[in-house]
Amino acid sequence: MTKNRFLLIICILQLSSLAAYCQDFSPLVKQFITVSSDTFALTHAIVVDGTGSPAKLDQTIVVISGKIISVGKTGNVAVPQNARIIDCTGKTIIPGMIMMHEHLFYGERVAPQYLGLEMPVSFPRLYLAGGVTTMRTAGTVEAHTDLNIRDQVTQGKIPGPDIDVTAPYIERAGLPIPEFHFIKGPDDIAKYMNFWISNGCTSIKVYMDITKDDLRQVVKLAHQHKIKVTGHLCSITYREAAEIGIDNLEHGFWVSSDFEPNKKENSCNQPAQSMSVNRLEENDPKMEDLMKFLIKKNVAITSTLPVFEPYTGREVFPGDAGEALTPAIREGIEKTSATMVNKDSTNRAMFKKEMVWERKFVQLGGRLMAGIDPTGAGRVIPGYADRHIPELLVEAGFSFPEAIKICTLNAAEYLGRSRDIGTIEVGKQADLVLIDGNPLNDVKDMRKTEIVFENGVGFDSRKLFESVLGKVGLY
Ligand SMILES: [Zn+2]
Repeated sequence: MTKNRFLLIICILQLSSLAAYCQDFSPLVKQFITVSSDTFALTHAIVVDGTGSPAKLDQTIVVISGKIISVGKTGNVAVPQNARIIDCTGKTIIPGMIMMHEHLFYGERVAPQYLGLEMPVSFPRLYLAGGVTTMRTAGTVEAHTDLNIRDQVTQGKIPGPDIDVTAPYIERAGLPIPEFHFIKGPDDIAKYMNFWISNGCTSIKVYMDITKDDLRQVVKLAHQHKIKVTGHLCSITYREAAEIGIDNLEHGFWVSSDFEPNKKENSCNQPAQSMSVNRLEENDPKMEDLMKFLIKKNVAITSTLPVFEPYTGREVFPGDAGEALTPAIREGIEKTSATMVNKDSTNRAMFKKEMVWERKFVQLGGRLMAGIDPTGAGRVIPGYADRHIPELLVEAGFSFPEAIKICTLNAAEYLGRSRDIGTIEVGKQADLVLIDGNPLNDVKDMRKTEIVFENGVGFDSRKLFESVLGKVGLY
């Protein structure tokens, strides 16, 4: 290659990264921006870099045009003269979180149905406010809305994280969810998947009642498009799905039907499934065998602890999220929750066991990622619950840096994006969360998110939260 052509390529690369950074923000987005300097330095910070290695004290991070230019001990890092200095003494910086079981809808039970209510205003803001800079929707009831929201965020029209939009659930008839399209067979699947992939969806999720033939078809088509498949399974066991080639399984080991006695092929029996994992001993070698098989098949697991959180001795709304809900919905959930306190011993035991299993999976070398899943009983609210996840992972026995790795690098690698995001390293996108405290001493300091940087643009966390107080449930 001639020298001139080489220089031309460098210029184009620089221009394209500049273009990505110099986006025009709408007035709506601008009101949440608190750091907009092209060149700035975060000094004297505690840094947990996302790789799982121990925290480093008194660090300086220099950001230019949305990229991390240098990181190191304060004093050893050259800070450009024109840089805005942000003193982070007593504060902690983690990478922007990459959360893998998020939704842009809020789940609400209105018997006999279960509704998915799209929250296109409040949810993107709450995710960003809570430190999430990249999210996968892991299933949707309004894929067109999700796709448009993703584009509006990218175009700087609304605040929110970068969104990996999952196509609508691939599911057969069974669940009382009126928003679902129920597929009838493999031919139907091909038509459906091609439609959504050609419209811009970048992930696939299969659900509880599909058959093994359905999954074979889904995996084949998705992989042809270089798209990954995750599943919340029931009719198919984890082992069967891993054999077929699924990439990821949702909800930890909680929904595995592998241990169900006399399980009928291709058929979901939820009570039997649930009883079988409740009864399984914590250290049953069958579970370890399954984990080893999943690891051999390179299947990642998504932990969704917030949606399983018991009632007794716990917050009604994990991460103190009650304020976000519209009062009528909040009161309803508080009432139901009160009736559950001290009556959830099975759930409490299962929750503990799930934590043990997730740790074991990581110890054996498995890839664990995390997400909140804002469905279930309606207690789990984006942003609030995302920053609560490291609290739960620490409760499960992970160190704080390990917990952060599960919420950052592990997911970046799974998404094939670890060159750009997932850790605090030179050359990566400046997706950073500034926390006004030290979560290594008290993990609850995770709740003190102050500034969330996305591509080097700093958003005021509190302002984002405040802008949608009481709005969850409405829009
Ligand atoms: Zn979900």
